[in-house]
Amino acid sequence: MSENCIFCKIARGEIPSRKLYEDDEVIAFHDINPVAPVHFMLVPKQHLVSLLEADASHASLLGRMLVLAPQLAREQGLESGFRTVINSGKGGGQEVFHLHIHVIGGGNIPPMVRRS
Ligand code: AMP
Ligand code: ZN
Repeated sequence: MSENCIFCKIARGEIPSRKLYEDDEVIAFHDINPVAPVHFMLVPKQHLVSLLEADASHASLLGRMLVLAPQLAREQGLESGFRTVINSGKGGGQEVFHLHIHVIGGGNIPPMVRRS
């Protein structure tokens, strides 16, 4: 746990969130500033900064989160698919420095990388 981390505070219930899933290790809640009709994120309760800090000891937690993503996406109506995004570090555009997997879908999801 990290004292001033916003996602740790959400995991501890100190800041409200629109929660859609919780277990001992993982919480999922809707993004406060969604980029698509459905946009939520999976967050480990343990304060892990990003994938840059992950090692083999996190393999099962990260695997569980990836397996949860399609389950929760289906529950949110994303039957035809969804996008997952993990921004890692400043170089990856990360803004909240507690690892999270974005799950995005519904509406028009454009190709992620445009090639000219
Ligand atoms: P990233 O750029 O991957 O670090 O994404 C951070 C995401 O956290 C952004 O999409 C924000 O909209 C979202 N966010 C920031 N604060 C909150 C909050 N209190 N509740 C829900 N989502 C949040
Ligand atoms: Zn944290």
